Amino acid sequence: MTCELAKGTGRARVAVSACLAGEPVRYDGTDRAHPAVRGPLGRLFELVPVCPEAGAGLGVPRPPVELVGRPHAPRALGVADRALDVTEPLRAWSEATAARLDVAGHVLKARSPSCGPARVPIRRSPRAGLRPAGTGIYAAALRRRHPWMPMVEETALDDAATLAAFVEAVLARARLDALLAAPSSAALAAFAARHRWWLAARSPARAREVAALAERVAAGRPVGAVLRQLEAAFMRGVLVRRPDAAREARLLGRLLALAKPALAPQRRHALRALVEAAARDPAARAEARARLAACFAAHPHPRVAPDDLYLWPDAAMAEAARLVDAWARGRAAA
Ligand code: SF4
Repeated sequence: MTCELAKGTGRARVAVSACLAGEPVRYDGTDRAHPAVRGPLGRLFELVPVCPEAGAGLGVPRPPVELVGRPHAPRALGVADRALDVTEPLRAWSEATAARLDVAGHVLKARSPSCGPARVPIRRSPRAGLRPAGTGIYAAALRRRHPWMPMVEETALDDAATLAAFVEAVLARARLDALLAAPSSAALAAFAARHRWWLAARSPARAREVAALAERVAAGRPVGAVLRQLEAAFMRGVLVRRPDAAREARLLGRLLALAKPALAPQRRHALRALVEAAARDPAARAEARARLAACFAAHPHPRVAPDDLYLWPDAAMAEAARLVDAWARGRAAA
């Protein structure tokens, strides 16, 4: 998978269930336009609307379907007419689309028998009750084909922290895709160095794993031999762990230790006080980070890359943070 950012358009591509983007493709001809999709996500990314049921030729409008059977191999049967079974066309279209999908993330419609990524209502048998235990047929195909692609259902986007985490994960996936599209020993070393502290804020273990892979390649291992491991290690850190205050405070402490020789005693004490407050005070965390960035800019350190993304977020990250913050404030004020 290589996303469009890697090809130079400047914006990562994100697929979205078409009804969430405002296309009237639901079974009854309506849409489910979501404000976060048309708002911050639409401004940050190139959106690629996808409707599996319309794509599979089921038509608009069409009879609604639901999942029936085992959660890992359900069938999509008509709600009113059990003789209607659209499983095969839906599955074939989903597998083919997942195989050629070229995006850095996907927003999926919750609870849909096609798009729902988890907890989709399913019946064990045609007459059994509904249980929230299924995965939509398209979402399952996506997960099989792209296990490390950031995916989110639209209901989670109402939470600003989840929206921010998804946006960050998409941008990270796009940066990784740029590396995977043109891998080299030098590019991998630069990627690992640039993400060292950014990834450590999520998972120090994954950051060490990525650094070790870069060192192995620098020592002569072919870069192509480590790319799958690199993808898994990096995206595991990105998708599974979010920065939390305690982990970030420890990370700031490690950076302070590196910066110490360059700091006058007074500045060092002030910075230590900020780091000690960082676990409980977001303002102290931000201030400590800014002061450390200024220190390393003036006094470079071999373990801190000059384009380290934790200390100096790039333009896309800064724009994303600004838009998500504005979005959250707007919703809080509404
Ligand atoms: S199949 Fe997916 S995109 Fe199409 S209407 Fe249903 S939920 Fe929306």
